[in-house]
Amino acid sequence: MSVQIFGIPVSRGVTVGRAVLLTSARLDVAHYFIEPGTEEREVDRLRAARAAVRAELDTLQGELPDDAPPELSAFIDVHKMLLDDPHIGRETAGWIRQRRYNAEWALTAQLEVIARSFDEMDDSYLRERKADVEQVVERLLYALLGSGPLRANAALRGANGDPLVLVAHDISPADMLQFKQGVFGGFVTDVGGKTSHTAIVARSLDIPAVVGAREASRLIRQDDWIVIDGDNGLLIVDPSPIILEDYRVRKQESGLVRERLKRLVHTPARTLDGQAVELLANIELPDDCDAALASGAAGVGLFRTEFLFMNRATALPDEDEQYAAYRRVLETMRGRPVTIRTIDIGADKPLDATDDYRDGEFTHLNPALGLRAIRYSLSDPAMFRVQLRALLRAAVSGPLRILIPMLAHAGELRQTFAQLELARAELDAAGQPHGAVEVGAMIEVPGAVLMLPLFLRHFDFISIGTNDLVQYTLAIDRADESVANLYDPLHPAVLQLLGQTIAQAHGAENWKGRPVHVSVCGEMAGDPQLTRLLLGMGLRSFSMHPAQLLAVKQEVLRADCARLAPLAQAVLAEYEPESQARALAALAA
Ligand code: PEP
Ligand code: MG
Repeated sequence: MSVQIFGIPVSRGVTVGRAVLLTSARLDVAHYFIEPGTEEREVDRLRAARAAVRAELDTLQGELPDDAPPELSAFIDVHKMLLDDPHIGRETAGWIRQRRYNAEWALTAQLEVIARSFDEMDDSYLRERKADVEQVVERLLYALLGSGPLRANAALRGANGDPLVLVAHDISPADMLQFKQGVFGGFVTDVGGKTSHTAIVARSLDIPAVVGAREASRLIRQDDWIVIDGDNGLLIVDPSPIILEDYRVRKQESGLVRERLKRLVHTPARTLDGQAVELLANIELPDDCDAALASGAAGVGLFRTEFLFMNRATALPDEDEQYAAYRRVLETMRGRPVTIRTIDIGADKPLDATDDYRDGEFTHLNPALGLRAIRYSLSDPAMFRVQLRALLRAAVSGPLRILIPMLAHAGELRQTFAQLELARAELDAAGQPHGAVEVGAMIEVPGAVLMLPLFLRHFDFISIGTNDLVQYTLAIDRADESVANLYDPLHPAVLQLLGQTIAQAHGAENWKGRPVHVSVCGEMAGDPQLTRLLLGMGLRSFSMHPAQLLAVKQEVLRADCARLAPLAQAVLAEYEPESQARALAALAA
């Protein structure tokens, strides 16, 4: 029977595929399709791993001291029994033979099936045996480590069978990033909000995704057919043929809309009344520059460098590695302006869990209010300067703007500039060439808006991070689906702060006597439904995922800023939901 599940839409489009259920702990194993004809070899790998685990358990049992409690030996017997159970042996081999999953993937897929049947048992003793199965599977995964790659998500290969969609309770931004070259045609998670970093990465993949679907990973079973409607945040499990047909038609239609938008790639982004608008790209990795260029972006408005620091087994990227990455972005963008943000580690973007660097620092109760972004960088000046030196060196290769996240205090501002000076001096002392940079502040804390005169005096540009500005203004955790209904970019308080920032930045001159450039790089900039409002508020620079750029450009081309300005002011004057809705409707008309 077909079931509907509602969640939060984060990435547009629809997709239909078979569910691959994963829990985040198990995302760490390799998921790839084996070559046709190699199925038996893969089954042999599994067989060898089972033999190794059996030998391991025998040794363990044989080495039990005479005075060991008898339950211990019985416990090992249970594990040996499970190892020989056809649910683990034969059925896992079935995933390999029929689906051509690699052995690790087959094991975790089968574990999900077994775990589900344990969860449904009435007998609590039997239910608890699930943990034993998990332990046996962990041992098997460990044994497979000796016979092939365990951590090879990056090697995900294209499926030639049914399309696959990933269903998980949660996916970290780092794990999501590993699926960039992946086989998944859609994503579903139980938790998360529209602007959580996981959702942002999903959006950058430009495939349908729904987060905050609460019970999805419990209700959806391994291998179920599901429709992901990324426009409406809807999942349909086991869709009827009529529903499937309906979605196939919608998929075709949205494909046509995208094709039509592609015609705008080379059209200058200019409004009807001749206002030039800068449309920039947000990227997570240097490889994303290709998508940025293909979308016709005028440059990079936000490179979230923290993603270079994730998915690493041990050390953080050193100066040369960072320099190479930044230089590559500048070279690929061929003279277009590139804004690189210093790391925004913390909150929902901790460093890789396997990384022991400053281990345990992210277990605080309120990580979004804790050691995050510039606070994190300033708490480790040596590490911060590694990044600053790499950036200054890269600036030789093109026009570089350095962006500092989450500033709020004059002290942070002074320390940042002092570290920048020190980094320059260190490069001079080492005889390393470096280039001129512009330095900008992210405005993403309401306190920073109220301190704008200070920011406008000291920086070359400001970039408004609306994702965090909404979060901190309304005290809504952007990654928490239980309060996602209260996360509202159109809340009058948010619009006041936004309008105030844009208005104050216009016409402002910094201490060098230069105008201060202002842009928005949060998700609001990439929402075509908000383009008119932002243009009416005076914004002329938008930074977003390349996938959103042409839809926003279409809005720009249809806009008349002279007409929109008073209409946007009328929106800003409204505080009651009904009258604000009327003012917004007038703006959209
Ligand atoms: C923002 O907060 O709007 C922003 C662009 O930064 P991030 O989403 O990486 O926190
Ligand atoms: Mg932010």
